[in-house]
Amino acid sequence: MQILVAGGAGYIGSHTCTALLEAGHRVIAADNLCNSKAETIIKVEHIAGKDMVFYEIDVTDTASVDTVFANHEIDGVIHFAGFKAVGESVEKPLDYYYNNIVSTMVLSRACMKYGVGKFVFSSSATVYGENQVPFVETMDLLPTTNPYGETKAVSERILTDAARANPGFKVSLLRYFNPVGAHESGLIGESPNGIPNNLMPFITQVVKGKLDRLQIFGNDYPTIDGTGVRDYIHVMDLAEGHVSALDHLTEGVHIYNLGTGQGTSVLQLVRAFEEAIGVEVPFEIVTRRPGDIAECYADVSKAQEELGWTARRDIIAMCRDAWRFENSYSD
Ligand code: NAD
Ligand code: UDP
Repeated sequence: MQILVAGGAGYIGSHTCTALLEAGHRVIAADNLCNSKAETIIKVEHIAGKDMVFYEIDVTDTASVDTVFANHEIDGVIHFAGFKAVGESVEKPLDYYYNNIVSTMVLSRACMKYGVGKFVFSSSATVYGENQVPFVETMDLLPTTNPYGETKAVSERILTDAARANPGFKVSLLRYFNPVGAHESGLIGESPNGIPNNLMPFITQVVKGKLDRLQIFGNDYPTIDGTGVRDYIHVMDLAEGHVSALDHLTEGVHIYNLGTGQGTSVLQLVRAFEEAIGVEVPFEIVTRRPGDIAECYADVSKAQEELGWTARRDIIAMCRDAWRFENSYSD
């Protein structure tokens, strides 16, 4: 298939481009590089040993998107292009609603116009809010505590309504848990701007010596050791989940959790990193981070049964690959 990957130069998008190319698909990436670099596209081509087409465009711009659809016979779209920082979304809600929702609108309307029948969307476990773990796709969504989460819930709703009204439009809504790690080559990975918000890049930067010590946000949660529990998933497993979702896409709207189904606490992740790399991770316990929930992990049985997909890489591989990228290639 020929797949348009919106946000293809970003963290999850670039890894998915490699997985698509390796699976034999042709890839057209579109990205405005607001949170990524053009050289990532070259690295993806190098890893896969294949070329791809790249458009530096903003996918909220209808005319630019139209040009891409007019130039290529597109079979499916994977939509990664969006802003993703939860805290920033509270400070700049209009930017988040505009970028994340208008991009979904423009891309899905182009699909209607050009008869493109497959759409895979990057959603997030955040749409479950404070439901009981493990999160199952059939749960009612609870309000999220930030505009970012709302943009995901609204985009899911838009695509669901569009699929119901247009039987040829097949939609897969993928709810990611916590993507970490990097491609095994170490060539591409996650390069957050400034001080990282997320745990794994914070740990790698502490070990690299860029940051002093990790602050663990709270050890008084009702969890195994008091620290927050998340479902970390290797970004290449996540990338391969997109290929499976595309390959199995049938009529209607399909929602899948992409996680491992395993909860890991902050302290457990720190210990796993120390074991994987053979270094000590200095840390201190500080107060809880506002908006954090105690536990978040997936029920992954639906993706296993319907997509034949399961996450294969363990927490040690996630730490090792995150570190290889940080140590070798990131700025
Ligand atoms: P990322 O920022 O690395 O990638 C997003 C890419 O989209 C970037 O390359 C950026 O330049 C591009 N982009 C943003 N707005 C654009 C626009 N209007 N036009 C063209 N390009 C645009 O983020 P990521 O971690 O790869 O996340 C990809 C998607 O997955 C996002 O939608 C995000 O909300 C979602 N998601 C991410 C996580 C996570 O923890 N990383 C978890 C759940 C869901
Ligand atoms: N966390 C932490 N210190 C940090 C960053 C994160 O203790 O510097 C904790 C956070 O409280 C949560 C877990 O690590 O329990 C995962 O946080 P992250 O921001 O990576 O993901 P999310 O909160 O989006 O699930």
